[in-house]
Amino acid sequence: MLRPHKNCHQKMRARQIDYREWHHLFRQIPEELVESTRYYRHLNDAEWSKYLFPPSTHAVYGNRLLRKLKFDNSLASLRLWGFAMSEGERLYRARQSGYRVIAEMGDLGAVTPLVHSFPDTISFYPDCLWWTPFLMESHVLFNEAAEFGLGEDCCFVRAAIGGYSKRAYFPKPDLNIGVTGATCDDMAAVMSEIALSGDEIHWFELPHRSEDNFQYSKKFLAGEHKKLCNKMEELTGVKFSESRFNDVVDKVNRLRSLIKECKELTAADGLNPIGGIEMMNVEFSALSYYADLDECLSVIEDFRDMLKARVNAKEGYTGQDIKIIWVTPAADPILINYLEELGGRIAGSEYVINQVTSRIRKDCSPFEALAEAQLQGSLMGSSAFRAQLVLDEIERTKADGAIISGIFGSSHCPFETSIIIKAVREKGLPVLAFDTAQPGKVKLQSQIYNRMQAFMESIRISRSRYAG
Ligand code: SF4
Repeated sequence: MLRPHKNCHQKMRARQIDYREWHHLFRQIPEELVESTRYYRHLNDAEWSKYLFPPSTHAVYGNRLLRKLKFDNSLASLRLWGFAMSEGERLYRARQSGYRVIAEMGDLGAVTPLVHSFPDTISFYPDCLWWTPFLMESHVLFNEAAEFGLGEDCCFVRAAIGGYSKRAYFPKPDLNIGVTGATCDDMAAVMSEIALSGDEIHWFELPHRSEDNFQYSKKFLAGEHKKLCNKMEELTGVKFSESRFNDVVDKVNRLRSLIKECKELTAADGLNPIGGIEMMNVEFSALSYYADLDECLSVIEDFRDMLKARVNAKEGYTGQDIKIIWVTPAADPILINYLEELGGRIAGSEYVINQVTSRIRKDCSPFEALAEAQLQGSLMGSSAFRAQLVLDEIERTKADGAIISGIFGSSHCPFETSIIIKAVREKGLPVLAFDTAQPGKVKLQSQIYNRMQAFMESIRISRSRYAG
């Protein structure tokens, strides 16, 4: 396959462009490259598996917000966007091709290596439908969730029950895995409604991470992975294989280290080398590999190469010089563009997915290794643990401030907002916290923009005072 970043197109100066410009630039991409950029390559390059398209194509398919976003102008980024946006289609293609499709809910990435170690099995996170109403500028999924009693006092993850009910966003899963125990009340409410509606769920219990008795938490969690393994054996009729598992772990560890490298490159001194939305797509690839681990590795490797080349050449976007740590992922990605428009860059993040960042060990039992990695999770222990993750990101990136995007009415991660604010302020850094507005709430959206503007101005003023 041609490597997109090697293409002559890459000689263009790094900048952010809109969907119209991508539409024109796309004509310069050689047809051979478009033809060869495919997922599920082992299915002999099935005609339907192409995924390199301009954002305008995804907008036509209903993701209307793309008409308003800013995109990085590299081919590696375009490939990443195409790969992430084709996940829904890929789940249906997987089903057509005889794969088992597993829905994982609530743990965001911790059980995926185990699930993927069974042959012809892929997984996805219905939780991730939370940004679909924003991307589609549509209330369909939220309205459907409201039919189940989940309204504006529940996190945007309620879109997941809308997806189950509509039966049009992903194929009916062969197995639903739902996390219970030390998990979020909002997601727990969503999963309970899914179960009450008749979709059977294999419950996976998450212990509270006991800092005093880490070994107990680890042993308990390893037992939950073993139970899930038994369930997968029963579902697939295939015995768990340690060698297949180790192959998957090698790839997952490789993916995690590529993502880490991308994060380090993003925080490098000098010009901002990449957009925050692209980096969010990179970080979220660690959850379920956008349902194709091999291709995901290739996409992220390509992206890393592009980033590295830019940083080495001191290339990047001009006018984005204030380093910000973004805490809790933005369900509405346009908020990230607002920050960039105001001169900010996302240098680091705490997107509640710390459970998919550490290397999975291979020198102990698979279940113990999975449990140990999972116990690094952002949300399964004290709030102080998560606040420390944010402080670590600030220190690593030498950030100028932090932004926390919350979710009105939600229980878990937003509950920690005041604790994180206090911790960041004690370090002497400014922090801005707001609730993300629902799609279509234009007045609230402009209030957020105004608050961000004031926040960025205050950072600039205190910087110039300090410099003076
Ligand atoms: S409130 Fe936070 S932890 Fe809970 S489902 Fe929403 S984003 Fe996840």
